Amino acid sequence: MAPSSRARLTVDLDALAHNFHTIAAESAGAETAPVVKADGYGLGAGPLAQRLWAEGARTFFVARLAEGEALRAALGARHATILVLDGFTPATGPRLAAASLTPVLSGLAQVSAASAFAVSARAPLPCALQVDTGMNRQGITVAQAAAVAQSPDRLRGLDIGLVMSHLGCGAEPDHPRNRQQLAAFHEVRALFPEARASLAASAGAFLGPDYRFDLVRPGISLYGGGPRERFDPRLRAVARLEAPVLDIRNLNPGDLVGYGDTIAVDRATRVAVVGAGYADGVIRAARRQGQAFVGGALRRLYIVDMDLTVVDLGDADVQLGEMVELLGPNALLDDLAAAAGSIAHECLVRLSPRAERLYVGEKVAEPVWAAR
Ligand SMILES: *Cc1c(COP(=O)(O)O)cnc(C)c1O
Repeated sequence: MAPSSRARLTVDLDALAHNFHTIAAESAGAETAPVVKADGYGLGAGPLAQRLWAEGARTFFVARLAEGEALRAALGARHATILVLDGFTPATGPRLAAASLTPVLSGLAQVSAASAFAVSARAPLPCALQVDTGMNRQGITVAQAAAVAQSPDRLRGLDIGLVMSHLGCGAEPDHPRNRQQLAAFHEVRALFPEARASLAASAGAFLGPDYRFDLVRPGISLYGGGPRERFDPRLRAVARLEAPVLDIRNLNPGDLVGYGDTIAVDRATRVAVVGAGYADGVIRAARRQGQAFVGGALRRLYIVDMDLTVVDLGDADVQLGEMVELLGPNALLDDLAAAAGSIAHECLVRLSPRAERLYVGEKVAEPVWAAR
């Protein structure tokens, strides 16, 4: 078989299942509710969610309405709770209801629009409430939450099953902001004693029992990213991006590699030209600092162009057509992110459909459609 010149993205569903159970054990007592927004961090929300359902997940989070609709279709007749972080607007209300999606209300306008919708539909509307405890990004303030909780009129028609907030510094366990947000969240929780409570994403799920509450919302750690933004051996790589060696070239000291005159090799060396670039999702900013795994070792990335990446081989014995791991169990996600000055989340969502996609691991039966 002629070597393919295409990059290949392998999504390991068994590794996903392993990570799910690792997080569930770490946050024992709380429900583990996977976050599969942005098409499952670029890895395919449908196949990921089907496998996570088979492993016991029953509650999922997405960001956008359309992501929720697609996930509802992918999960078919399964009675999953799907929460939409974008929340509720008068325009999206009917679509949320049609797909049985649960909006996460994050502003007073959303609360009143959802309440008006439920009242006119004469049916209680299941929803979640997001409260800002100090991240200053999304959610009503603690004071607004108190006002809402004390005003039955504002809550008419709303069935608030979950109150949640989000940590700004969860990846830094000793940061004082964590305890400040935790204290504020306890206030919020007391306002809605009937609702379940959720504070932790991946990082928070590893912060210990104080941060667990009733439900944790991991995203990146399900996909192998460490909760402290560095490799965590308890988690397995879910995404593996590989591409073949298309050419091997000899360079002399002083030769300039690629565009511009910034990268000059300082010794005679061999380099591999690899058939994947930033159009496949190799982060360009990882050039020079980042490493790929080839010939049994990690080797430096010289350049990352749109279609091609050049890797320093040194004196390694590497053949044409050999696959180079650009991301995976050896070329670690968190290391790539650090080399690119980014975070694991961004490295995953940039993986593109140009790379051929392969799902491995125990297959899950296709959903059976139920008449609705
Ligand atoms: C994206 C997101 C998560 C998941 O975050 P990770 O860091 O990927 O675990 C959880 N909660 C909210 C509100 C989010 O926006």
